[in-house]
Amino acid sequence: MQTLKPHAALLASPGIGHLIPVVELGKRLAAHHGLNVTVFVVASDSSIKESPIFSSASALNRLELVLLPPVDVSGLINSTTSAVTQLARIMRAALPSLRAAISAMRARPSVIIVDIFGTKALAVAEEYDMLKYVFVTTTARFLAAFIHLANIDRKTEQEHRILKKPLQIPGLEPVRFEDTLNLFLDNIDQCLYAEYTRIGSLIPTADGILVNTWQDLEPSALHALGDEKLLGRVARAPVYPVGPLVRPVEPDSKSKVMNWLNMQPVESIIYVSFGSGGTLSTEQTAELAWGLELSQQRFLWAARPPVDDDASGNFLSVSNSQDGMPNYLPDGFHTRTHDRGMVAPMWAPQAEILAHKSVGGFVSHCGWNSTLESIVNGVPMVAWPLYAEQRMNAAMLVEQLGTAVRSRMRSAHGTIGREEIADMVRSIMSLEGNGMRTKAKELQRAAAEAIRKGGSSHNSLTQVAKECEIKLQSQALGD
Ligand code: UDP
Repeated sequence: MQTLKPHAALLASPGIGHLIPVVELGKRLAAHHGLNVTVFVVASDSSIKESPIFSSASALNRLELVLLPPVDVSGLINSTTSAVTQLARIMRAALPSLRAAISAMRARPSVIIVDIFGTKALAVAEEYDMLKYVFVTTTARFLAAFIHLANIDRKTEQEHRILKKPLQIPGLEPVRFEDTLNLFLDNIDQCLYAEYTRIGSLIPTADGILVNTWQDLEPSALHALGDEKLLGRVARAPVYPVGPLVRPVEPDSKSKVMNWLNMQPVESIIYVSFGSGGTLSTEQTAELAWGLELSQQRFLWAARPPVDDDASGNFLSVSNSQDGMPNYLPDGFHTRTHDRGMVAPMWAPQAEILAHKSVGGFVSHCGWNSTLESIVNGVPMVAWPLYAEQRMNAAMLVEQLGTAVRSRMRSAHGTIGREEIADMVRSIMSLEGNGMRTKAKELQRAAAEAIRKGGSSHNSLTQVAKECEIKLQSQALGD
């Protein structure tokens, strides 16, 4: 007799950087642990359906992607609303459609897994007697800071925000002000801090917390989250490191960019991208172009039009199309660099690029998906954090993992000059970067080890799948 397999409902908040790891988690649960998975996707318009990430996942066995009715954001935001507050509001507005979709399902899911912006939906799990997990798509260190934040008093908050004292987190290295989360830097959006603390206080109400990291990558943060004398008391729920969950390389990927990479020498290219959302100012974009030119290195740049007042200017945008050569680069840039560089306007097939043998370095905003994609391919980085928790990620890459260099310029509003950019690029790509490359390759091996059958992350997910099976059995008995 065939045993009934649990059904998991996953909820992805807007933004490609959230959709990718949630879909990868769904794929892993379906392919390796036999669960049936429905991923509910929230977006502010339906063009997300055109994205290859959406369409390729829709074709898989045991996994279905459902786009919830797009949320009308017009009444939810104004000019001071940050991307995070927008996300939290959109997710709240999407709750009735999620509830309706779950209630209409013939086979009731045994479990709901939401990303951090979907924590309000944990209440839906209670209504339908489901297990409830939160999936943190970034680091254990971020989770620790986040949970801790919900418990700090006003004095500690002000000491960090105004006096710029380091934020002490039990069991972890303190977070320096220059590496802090965006919510301590944004003085315009009055709702941002409250949104973060609300989410931070909801996370511990889950039955478990999944994190896109692995045991050997962040042993001290994971230890602190489990230790009752440190953060375990406030985290309350068990923490399961299940990563790295990264988008696999599409086989036979053919494009102008990949054809160009095929013609380049091994590990000769530095790839430049600031993720799905990152944008640079006009001045910074020009300095980056000059810096790449000065470095004399081969490069591939997924370039975006400048945005002067928002480093996350593209985050909630779904459309990434743009034809032709960007007109915002310095005059003559293309002519002077076309023999060794390529510009891919707006979007590039990043998973495939970082896995390509010609790529030897990555200038990155340190979004966690990009960071993991670099790690699983053993590629050292120039860490160029822009927003969210990216400064914390950069500090970890440079100071703890030793796989990246970082600018001396730490102000979120400062401009990094062309000479320093050229120096950083050369230091990664030249012999000087060999130490970082060796460490990056060691991490690559450890990452593969964690997700193979019997590895630490595989075992964590097996445990979660078991809990879902037990829940299914108890639901069946109760029916
Ligand atoms: N990405 C891509 N091509 C691009 C820019 C981004 O494929 O030109 C993908 C990238 O591979 C990663 C994701 O989009 O998987 C970005 O996620 P990340 O967490 O790095 O940054 P975010 O966009 O959330 O800031």
